Amino acid sequence: MDYRKMGRSGLELSILSFGSWVTFHQQVDDRLADELMGIAYDRGINFFDNAEVYALGESEKMMGRVLKKKNWERSSYVVSSKAFFGWRGDKDKPNQTGLSRKHLTEACHEALERLQVDYLDLYFCHRPDPTVPIEEVVWTMDILIRQGKVLYWGTSHWSAGDIMEAHRVARQYNLIPPVVEQPQYNMLERYKMELDLPPVFQHTGMGATVWSPLAGGFLTGKYLDEIPEGSRLSLEGFDWLRKRWLQKQKIEKVKKLSKLAERMGVSLPSLAIAWTLANPNVTTTILGATRKEQLLENLKALEVVSLLTPKTLQQIEGILQNKPDFDLA
Ligand code: NDP
Repeated sequence: MDYRKMGRSGLELSILSFGSWVTFHQQVDDRLADELMGIAYDRGINFFDNAEVYALGESEKMMGRVLKKKNWERSSYVVSSKAFFGWRGDKDKPNQTGLSRKHLTEACHEALERLQVDYLDLYFCHRPDPTVPIEEVVWTMDILIRQGKVLYWGTSHWSAGDIMEAHRVARQYNLIPPVVEQPQYNMLERYKMELDLPPVFQHTGMGATVWSPLAGGFLTGKYLDEIPEGSRLSLEGFDWLRKRWLQKQKIEKVKKLSKLAERMGVSLPSLAIAWTLANPNVTTTILGATRKEQLLENLKALEVVSLLTPKTLQQIEGILQNKPDFDLA
């Protein structure tokens, strides 16, 4: 496993990390969570990602139980939470969601309790909240850090403009700024990491913990002929994800990427994950898995990184941009 500094902060994260969205509590029970986190940790993964909204709090509780049982040295891993969406589903009352000082503080306390830890290494604002003054958000995060409840704070899916505004406020009042952003990044979703955020990384030195490297499983190629039973896209409530990925043009690209991976003698998931690591602004790519075999397969991305020569990257680019020269059919 390799490690990268999280931007210009002092924190080192393994280049692959492990998250629990959709999986923990819904598809994965305590026994499997224990096994998956054990494999991850033993292979050098030191960052485990979570959020208040994942399985409406149950995902943090499950991760907390595993962490307690494993009894790893607290200094050997990094654990995160994110606040914004709340955890009561549609039963949220005013102040139980969003980025107000009240919700950010209460959500932090609840995450600490659920995860059974004394502090969060990373605490993210899960989305921007235009209804709360940015000064209130930055002050709150600064206070939580000074209280020792959080070590570093970050943003997730914020625009470059919103992030720069947070930095302006931090500078103006001498507060601790966000040091990490968590955007989506995969071969089929590149806007934030490649167009919107690069100037932010350059000016602020923020790191990036990127999510959905496999587009929720679509970039494994397993949806080319059918929707396998029990897979994410088969789950109730995921129509929006099916609509996002199961589109003709995207399916064509995955077919070609599949062929390229075959020619390289690697699996498509390992190629897709390795491709995210070729972006130097990525600190860590967060993996998700519902089975041991998936995690082991995805960890092979570490070996594929060195196969990404300029020529291979160009071939991938050709496929992603529908350039006929790179048609592998
Ligand atoms: P991926 O895009 O990698 O999707 C992971 C899912 O794909 C798995 O749960 C599994 O689902 C399927 N899969 C994974 N590997 C394989 C394989 N080798 N073969 C076949 N199927 C496979 O990542 P996620 O979307 O899960 O995101 C990763 C993490 O990022 C999350 O857990 C969370 O921590 C974070 N995240 C953050 C967000 C944010 O807003 N900040 C938003 C989303 C995620 P299945 O078996 O069910 O098909």
